[in-house]
Amino acid sequence: MLQQTQVTKVLEYYQKFVDRFPDVVSLAGAELQDLLKTWEGLGYYARARNLHKAAQVVVRDLEGHIPVDYAAFRKLPGVGEYIAAAVQSIAFNAPYAVVDGNVKRVLARLFLVKTPINRSASTRIFQEKANQLLDHSVPGIFNQALMELGATVCRPKSPTCVVCPVNAYCQALQMARQSEFPVRQKPKPLPEYHVVAAVIHRDDQVFITQRKPEGLLGGLWEFPGGKIQVKETAEQACVRAIREETNLLVEPIEYLTRVKHAYTHFKIVMDVFHCHYQSGEVVLNEAIDYRWITVNQINQFPFPRSNHKFIPLLTQGKEDYNE
Ligand code: SF4
Repeated sequence: MLQQTQVTKVLEYYQKFVDRFPDVVSLAGAELQDLLKTWEGLGYYARARNLHKAAQVVVRDLEGHIPVDYAAFRKLPGVGEYIAAAVQSIAFNAPYAVVDGNVKRVLARLFLVKTPINRSASTRIFQEKANQLLDHSVPGIFNQALMELGATVCRPKSPTCVVCPVNAYCQALQMARQSEFPVRQKPKPLPEYHVVAAVIHRDDQVFITQRKPEGLLGGLWEFPGGKIQVKETAEQACVRAIREETNLLVEPIEYLTRVKHAYTHFKIVMDVFHCHYQSGEVVLNEAIDYRWITVNQINQFPFPRSNHKFIPLLTQGKEDYNE
């Protein structure tokens, strides 16, 4: 299911994913690292972890059968109302209406819904409208048609109303107010954090850590670092954060680059340094595992996109940082 993700982006991954994990048994038995590596770059890594857990529940507790019953399906890890309605209606023809961003846009224009679509209070309103419209004889086809209508005809800008199959019922069209709907509340600006990351060199290896399995980017590997505190330079933050997070003493020896990245709820500006390992045994704070690897081994591990923005600089220029 494609919440907040574009079809074209997912298509790049889909074939690779089903080739690697062709059925629920292979998915359940996969190493989480393999799954994350296949998913790498798509974002929303909690979805990958939940998919893995759900496959394990299906294989372990349900004899490999995906629940046909809505309530049982809804209990699987990571399954919310949207996924439950979409899978149950499309796969099993069960009468549940799907509401995604495309559907909300169509409904907002059809019925001149004034509640902003990005306010949580609107979810119930749009769900009720969709429930009323749902064709119970073909719920899966109806849901796909409404989502597709929003994606291809009732587009955010310049909807092609002249070819729209529901134009006779559209209140926005009748009043020539398509551009006013859906109503959207101005989102608050995302907070921005200034952080550092360290590429720590020892002999011909670099140091990476693995994030804990839960939460943001859970299970992924990364070059360690942390937030820059008030009155701290990026270099000072680098030394302090690495000591706090790994117990290693390092010396920043060269500024590598600045990376900007936006997550769903915040943005980061990340200064990346080449650092020389000086001393210390690894004692991890937040991370759950670590490796000393060569630069050539980086592509064996799943990394977040923010790290991929500077990893090519490491693999292209392999200077010696161990003097
Ligand atoms: S008539 Fe136009 S605005 Fe109304 S639902 Fe169709 S494409 Fe959207």
